[in-house]
Amino acid sequence: MSRYWSAVVQGLTPYVPGEQPKIHNLLKLNTNENPYGPSFRALEAIRAAAADGLRRYPDPESDALRQALASYHGLQREQVFVGNGSDEVLAHAFQALLKHDGPLLFPDITYSFYPTYCGLYGIKYETVPLDTDFRIQPRDYLPTARSVPAGGIILPNPNAPTGIALTLEQIDGIVSANPQAVVVVDEAYVDFGAESAVSLLSRHHNLLVVHTFSKSRALAGLRVGYAVGHPALIEALARVKNSFNSYPLDTLAQAGAMAALQDEAHFRKICTAIQKSRGLLVEGLQQQGFVVLPSSANFVFARHPKRSGVSLAAALREHGIIVRNFGHPRIEHFLRITVGQDAECRRLLDTLGEILAQ
Ligand SMILES: *Cc1c(COP(=O)(O)O)cnc(C)c1O
Repeated sequence: MSRYWSAVVQGLTPYVPGEQPKIHNLLKLNTNENPYGPSFRALEAIRAAAADGLRRYPDPESDALRQALASYHGLQREQVFVGNGSDEVLAHAFQALLKHDGPLLFPDITYSFYPTYCGLYGIKYETVPLDTDFRIQPRDYLPTARSVPAGGIILPNPNAPTGIALTLEQIDGIVSANPQAVVVVDEAYVDFGAESAVSLLSRHHNLLVVHTFSKSRALAGLRVGYAVGHPALIEALARVKNSFNSYPLDTLAQAGAMAALQDEAHFRKICTAIQKSRGLLVEGLQQQGFVVLPSSANFVFARHPKRSGVSLAAALREHGIIVRNFGHPRIEHFLRITVGQDAECRRLLDTLGEILAQ
């Protein structure tokens, strides 16, 4: 605290990202990074872009990348917004599209950055409890279920940290029933087994779908995310961006993301490998008595009936394995474990086996 702090800063509760510790022989399964490297084409493009000279400013509108993303999804460039990681895209969406008189709705158990943005931008919100199976119930988001209409809705699909996905029909139902509000679907993990709501964009002007290159494209360090939606929603994001930072994506990020997008074979290969490893991991955990939620993401959410989440996470850490455990009351005994390569999943399972045998 300092008397020089603004009232906003005094009231902030910043988001705490998963740690990036320096431990020998570390197995890092705590931030859902991809266990495989990015496309070599992306690395080559980044090298070429660096050699070409960083003397000049990048294209402030990232037109080439936005055009490439538009073509990839069968959209127009005016329907695409890019940002410095999808966290920045989300932040702009909160300020530009989700701040209204009616409360913003999101699940009680979800990406913990959402309440942080509400604090930063002074947005009223209400959390909607997941059901007893940790599922989002679409009917809870219908105007008929509420006394005040929602001013906005945001959901990750699949949800984080549960990994459970809604179907396209369920997303469609929520978007159709709330024409008064923007519905943001945060598809950070969609490529690992859920259906993308991008296909609904032609029918809905109040839908914004947000993607990232950090998870399925193995480029968390490059910081590239994007949103697709009706041109009017995209213009709102651009207005905020151009009132904040003209050049959010640097030259290397624009070049690397374009090249990564063109390497569909690599993208599919690593997504398929991770889905396969997830199967092994889930099976191994269940054999050890874990309750594992059905995951459509590159992580699993699991608890052991006989061990607390804190004690398991601490014991794994002593073996150099970092997983995530959240303090939230309903999920305090769950571990969120990123799906690694097969050998990494096996090391985790073997270590858990030793810990549980003690
Ligand atoms: C990882 C993640 C993001 C943000 O990723 P960026 O690295 O900022 O693109 C957004 N939403 C959810 C739910 C995530 O898990």
